[in-house]
Amino acid sequence: MDEKLESTLWNIQQRNVSEPEFIQAVKEVLGSIGTVLAKHPKFAEQKLIERICEPERQVIFRVPWQDDRGEVHINRGFRVQFNSALGPFKGGLRFHPSVNLSIVKFLGFEQIFKNALTGMPIGGAKGGSDFDPKGRSDEEVMRFCQSFMTELSRHLGEYTDVPAGDVGVGKREIGFLFGQYKRISNRYESGVLTGKGLSYGGALVRTEATGYGLGYFVQEMLAARGESLGGKTCLVSGSGNVAIYAIEKVMQLGGKVVACSDSKGVVYDEAGIDLPTLKRIKEVERLPIESYCQWRKRAHYQEGGNLWEIKCDVALPCATQNELTGKDADALLRGGCIAVAEGANMPTTPDGIEKFTKARIAYAPGKAANAGGVATSALEMQQNASRDAWSFEYTERKLAHIMKDIHDRCLKTADEFGVPGNYAQGANIGAFLRVADAMQSLGLI
Ligand code: NDP
Repeated sequence: MDEKLESTLWNIQQRNVSEPEFIQAVKEVLGSIGTVLAKHPKFAEQKLIERICEPERQVIFRVPWQDDRGEVHINRGFRVQFNSALGPFKGGLRFHPSVNLSIVKFLGFEQIFKNALTGMPIGGAKGGSDFDPKGRSDEEVMRFCQSFMTELSRHLGEYTDVPAGDVGVGKREIGFLFGQYKRISNRYESGVLTGKGLSYGGALVRTEATGYGLGYFVQEMLAARGESLGGKTCLVSGSGNVAIYAIEKVMQLGGKVVACSDSKGVVYDEAGIDLPTLKRIKEVERLPIESYCQWRKRAHYQEGGNLWEIKCDVALPCATQNELTGKDADALLRGGCIAVAEGANMPTTPDGIEKFTKARIAYAPGKAANAGGVATSALEMQQNASRDAWSFEYTERKLAHIMKDIHDRCLKTADEFGVPGNYAQGANIGAFLRVADAMQSLGLI
């Protein structure tokens, strides 16, 4: 990183001292744009970099709610509206006890660039709460969502800010959130939330989109190296929305996923993960991954195990931030891994990324490889605006095209800026150019 960018980063660190995840995300992007500023010095004017790193607006609010026994709980709600140069703020809501301002800001910051890469008219935002939906009844989750939306609704609108789901926020939560927004605003504003159920304005393929998009991205990465998913052994961490549909698409494309995980442990199934079993456990019964082995007797479960120590050709981290460390990267490389694509946001630590880059394997950052989710959310907004509903096949074809475009743009940009084959830099530079150009055109705001 050149001296000027170093000093900018230092200032950002001083302003956000207690936000390590946010600083990690900023550092990763600023580390890629030195060559852009050398080529386009206008993007260093009017403190454009500092403005990109400062959210347009951050809202933190109290969320009081009552559990089934009548006990009162107070959670903290967040919405960080990071950048609306390209369109209305757009990004998911995460409900997890680990949620704090640093996490929401890193996710919102990443979202700016991810959304830019899709080529669609959407700005970047993220939100959520430290509420833990695990083990809560549907009624408790509903009361929480209603209280959360009562405050959040003041800041939303289909032309203002359009949230979606993320960790801990699925169809059930989006339904309760949309219901409360509709009630408070007295408007059937379908385009105000995405990831909705099909009966009230949701779009086909949105549920599958992030995982399916990841599968398509990996296919493109391998094809660029003269390889394919056919017969490849794959690992997918997590067993939530992104993981399940990544497994499904990888298998449809000829790969074999032999292991997945949750926050408690790892399941290894040499014959390949059985999807109907996984979906029943995770989507219907909401049970820990351990129970997979009750149905698939040949599978093994290891509590607290490390997925990345299993030998594989392709690794897809789809659980959470910083879940794949430098040591894990070493283990994957030793095992012969040739491609890593991130379904989760920022799952690989900086030293892990460095090892993959040095080893010259195909490594794709989340902001490119998992952009299929938000891209399909933008397609949901299009359908809501035109009061239309597209077929599964048509929407999936669009998703596949979008992922190919993102893949090709990353590679082309990496070539243009002298870092051939580097998806991480190609993604950062390509996205930065689009956002910076829009911000500059809009003046000093
Ligand atoms: P879910 O809540 O559906 O699933 C998260 C999964 O990750 C769960 O299986 C969870 O296990 C597991 N997990 C969490 N922490 C760990 C850990 N430390 N080790 C192993 N497993 C862990 O979330 P999503 O699938 O929606 O999101 C996963 C990732 O993908 C996140 O980083 C999210 O930001 C990102 N993402 C999601 C998009 C979407 O459309 N949903 C779009 C783009 C990115 P447990 O159940 O035990 O907690």
